[in-house]
Amino acid sequence: MRTDTIAAIATGNNSSGISIIRLSGSEAISVADRIFVSKQHKHILSVVKTHTIHYGYIIQPDKEETEKERILDEVLVSVMRAPNSYTTEDVVEINCHGGIVITNMILEQVLLSGARLAEPGEFTKRAFLNGRIDLSEAEAVMELIDAGSRAAAMNSERMLSGSLSKIVERLRESILFETAFIESALDDPEHFDLSGYPEKLSEKIKELLDEIEALLQSAEDGELIKNGIRTVILGKPNVGKSTFLNLIAGAEKAIVTEIAGTTRDVLSQNLSIRGIEFVFMDTAGIRNTEDVVEKIGVDKAKQAAQDADLILYIADSAAGFDEEDEKILAPLSDKKIIVLMNKSDLLAKPDTKSFDRIGKSYQVLSVSAKENTGIREFKDLVESMFFQNRLQSDDQIYLTNIRHKEALADTKNALLHVMESIDAGMTEDFYAIDLMDAYTSLGRILGKELGDDLVEEIFSKFCLGK
Ligand code: GDP
Repeated sequence: MRTDTIAAIATGNNSSGISIIRLSGSEAISVADRIFVSKQHKHILSVVKTHTIHYGYIIQPDKEETEKERILDEVLVSVMRAPNSYTTEDVVEINCHGGIVITNMILEQVLLSGARLAEPGEFTKRAFLNGRIDLSEAEAVMELIDAGSRAAAMNSERMLSGSLSKIVERLRESILFETAFIESALDDPEHFDLSGYPEKLSEKIKELLDEIEALLQSAEDGELIKNGIRTVILGKPNVGKSTFLNLIAGAEKAIVTEIAGTTRDVLSQNLSIRGIEFVFMDTAGIRNTEDVVEKIGVDKAKQAAQDADLILYIADSAAGFDEEDEKILAPLSDKKIIVLMNKSDLLAKPDTKSFDRIGKSYQVLSVSAKENTGIREFKDLVESMFFQNRLQSDDQIYLTNIRHKEALADTKNALLHVMESIDAGMTEDFYAIDLMDAYTSLGRILGKELGDDLVEEIFSKFCLGK
């Protein structure tokens, strides 16, 4: 394992108030010490206590200038000695001013003083290889950084603090216990009695399978949390689709005009509603059209609707919800659909009769995009239509990683094999093989028994400096 000293800008390549350059490895402190001096112009880092922060200057040590002219920036440097650091190695973080140029100049000095530029994800990889976190926790770090909504961030945070790891560890322990029992009984039949054991094992495996199944099922919601709920806005031209999207987004992104059929492409926009991410796609108004360009837009709208997780169907309250609207929605009946009767401001009084009629087939709400009414009810409704309101609970975790899902599916199959062997009255040594398969598959989630190339591949997807 490499323990050479690595360095990278941890705060991304943007100008900001402060940047952080992070170093990790056995030489991290001495490398930093070469280019850092305290206010009294002393090199002090090699003797400071762990988890302390120091004010001073980054200098260019090789420049033959006066001490003052060698100063690059005024900084704060934190020192975290092994093993209590992110990577478990000696770690130094230089907090400098956040200009792109100055940050890169300091990084250059760090590299000239003996550190090597880190590969993407190398800090987190070291945390994993040094046993501080398991692979699922390392992956959660990445997902937390990439999270596009509060729900995604909270789910990653739960994974990062080990919620999934704990479940997987517990499942593995149960399986190992059973395997050990079988092996011992086969080795030492005098002291271990296997009579009635298959029934007991079968009960145990049913419990494990239930738990695994629940996790696998959470993957569907996990995908929505991670990638956002793809929401397509449909409706005839001029009913207020763009106006509604603008209102929700609070920005003028879609072009609003009074001529029917102007939204020709599919515009997409990520929005957070109650902490859940929605990817809104505004589409061309659906109608039979002769205009070729417009027709392309209409076809795209139909395609987008087929792939959507949620359809917002907008109709004009004054014109009513007619047969044509029914016809557009009919092929989408297996989707989650909300019908929004827009322009309610144009009605003198609510049209309860047609409302009740639509309500028989769809979730329906009366709104006015123009006067901003019905929006809170709309948000309440979308929130309740997904995740069964379980998102706020602290212990629920959702699988968001395809690798974890595959490993769990393999575990499930191996356990189903054990059940088959039990039902077929096979001997105990048969169970042990499949039990060990299940055990190994679960281990892959934690990064146990994974090949080096796979580990490389996983970490290479990380961003630089993490
Ligand atoms: P789209 O073709 O479905 O995207 O419709 P637009 O968003 O371009 O809106 C068409 C017209 O309807 C515009 O003149 C909007 O100002 C108007 N409009 C949109 N929502 C409302 C509403 O709630 N009430 C009223 N009175 N007019 C609206």
